[in-house]
Amino acid sequence: MSRHSAKGAVWERNRAITLTRDPTCQIPDPHDCTVTSTEVDHIIPRRHGGSNDLRNLRGACRNGNQARNRTTPRLDTHITL
Ligand SMILES: [Zn+2]
Repeated sequence: MSRHSAKGAVWERNRAITLTRDPTCQIPDPHDCTVTSTEVDHIIPRRHGGSNDLRNLRGACRNGNQARNRTTPRLDTHITL
């Protein structure tokens, strides 16, 4: 059925949890910074089937999140879900 109906609520909740869990940017090198997280990054991008599950989310600074969105040529392969 409609998996989309509850997506917004789950996302909002998990986003808040992630920002609390990851108070600083978790984007790995080459970005590699310790700036305060203001956004949430999908480790496996949504367009690659990544979910809004907490295990697929990490805190990111704005620059890191935008940089990743511009340059995501491949999946991260070091992730253990
Ligand atoms: Zn960053």
